[in-house]
Amino acid sequence: MKALIADAINEKGIENLKEVADVVVDTSITPEELYETIGEYDAIIVRSRTKLPAETIAKADNLKIIARAGVGVDNIDVNAATEKGIMVVNAPESTSITVAEHTMGLILSTIRKIAIADASTKEGKWEKKRFMGMELKDKTLGVIGMGRIGSQVVNRCKAFQMDAIAYDPYLPADVAKQMGVELLETQEELLKRADVITIHVPLTPETKHSISTEQFEMMKDTALIFNCARGGIIDEDALYEALKEGKIGGAGLDVFEEEPAKDNKLFELDNIVCTPHIAASTKEAQRDAAIIVADEVIEVFKGEMPRNIINMPRMDNSGFEEANDYLELCDKIGSFISQASQGAIKELEIVYSGEIADLATQELFTRTIIKGLLTPIVNEGVSAVNARNIAKSRGLNITEAKTDKNESYNSLVKLTAKTDKSEFSVVGTYLHEPRIIEINGYRVDVKPEGDMFIANYKDIPGSIGSIGTKLGEYNVNVGIMQVGRDIPGGKAIMILTLDNEAPKEAIEEIKSLGNVDDATTLKL
Ligand code: NAD
Repeated sequence: MKALIADAINEKGIENLKEVADVVVDTSITPEELYETIGEYDAIIVRSRTKLPAETIAKADNLKIIARAGVGVDNIDVNAATEKGIMVVNAPESTSITVAEHTMGLILSTIRKIAIADASTKEGKWEKKRFMGMELKDKTLGVIGMGRIGSQVVNRCKAFQMDAIAYDPYLPADVAKQMGVELLETQEELLKRADVITIHVPLTPETKHSISTEQFEMMKDTALIFNCARGGIIDEDALYEALKEGKIGGAGLDVFEEEPAKDNKLFELDNIVCTPHIAASTKEAQRDAAIIVADEVIEVFKGEMPRNIINMPRMDNSGFEEANDYLELCDKIGSFISQASQGAIKELEIVYSGEIADLATQELFTRTIIKGLLTPIVNEGVSAVNARNIAKSRGLNITEAKTDKNESYNSLVKLTAKTDKSEFSVVGTYLHEPRIIEINGYRVDVKPEGDMFIANYKDIPGSIGSIGTKLGEYNVNVGIMQVGRDIPGGKAIMILTLDNEAPKEAIEEIKSLGNVDDATTLKL
């Protein structure tokens, strides 16, 4: 086996790999040289310098695995790798401690004004009175996103004798309790109560600009806010105003809406501490990432499954051909139920019927459903391989069953999600493409694809029109509409495909229409 290490990684990872493979280290390889030589390799390890676009991947005839020694895979065309049957792996757990520690650094630097005091002292000013600080002891830490990094920040803040509250709508309350935080129902409550707010969520349509003018208004005027997650979660224009007008006490950012951030108006302010996206940059994180991905490559060379596969290469010619279509269905309905159900899912019941129930690949279907369910919620790195473990660590209980074949369909998959608030069910089938044929007992027929909208409303004259009109006011065009109801005048459900994404404001206005019980958008 031949492996190329195309970006500088820790020596320990290289050593491990050398035990099983012929390793070439060329960390200055150019895109042209890589294009010419990639066909020789069985594995390639990259960080972020080396790009793997579709044209290069097309030439990678022997490649089995692309390993990213780190987290983000923006430099790899994952779809092209999937089509070519190449696994893409990463090392998402390698940076958690490092990012949590950097978050602590920003918190301490802000609350004790260390960065500006350092600059002033080195200018010879000795401004003892200017830098009055605050203690962390007995203050309330508010964590938005209690995943790998958020939970590590909580552990560290406990040592500072802080109280911890959290908002993470996808985390069951009992799991949060074990993590030692009080889980809140709404982000609004967290923003009102916390002294120190720290963000550890992925950037998704739901989290984009989820901290903006309205949210800054809710915070204490002494509140401090930190973002070591992704630029774009905080609306920077709104942050600038909030800091300038003294609506909040201070902020710390490692990530920015536009990077590299060289000319950002936030830099004018002295109540913000900024670092250039370095929260994950420590020797230990790089060493761990190198060791983790080297081990993953070794696993693949031994014919075993690595831990952190990001993609699911098609398995044509492997005896699993018929499974591929159902895998697409499983991925879609897992993602659908995750986005459509309200509250943290505690239990997921999966019922297979028809041909799909008899295929030997059922475990893979279940894992793909869980992967689909977790992908909109957690950061990069959920795969069919690690999905069960991640679900378990998040307190998600999964049951599987089979029923007799339905006369009208060759195969059906029914998912029922129980959350702390409600129960939601969806039934899907595969008819040349994945189709959703039932939602909460109502018959529908829709392809889960692109931007979608779902609403529960009262079946009274004008309800459908009022929702359509609101979307129209926001310039959102409806593609397909399906409605279902229990009895005339009773409860009804509407599912729409949208030609463009509906803004949050449109959804909020629809929710406040008197005849609408609930509304949400989905991306499939
Ligand atoms: P994770 O997947 O382990 O945790 C994310 C958590 O956010 C999950 O518990 C999920 O339930 C929760 N969540 C999802 N949507 C939410 C919402 N709307 N409101 C509240 N909670 C929500 O991810 P992680 O590994 O802890 O990473 C967290 C963030 O840190 C990611 O954005 C990641 O890209 C970023 N990160 C940044 C750096 C850096 O260099 N600055 C390095 C590594 C990771």
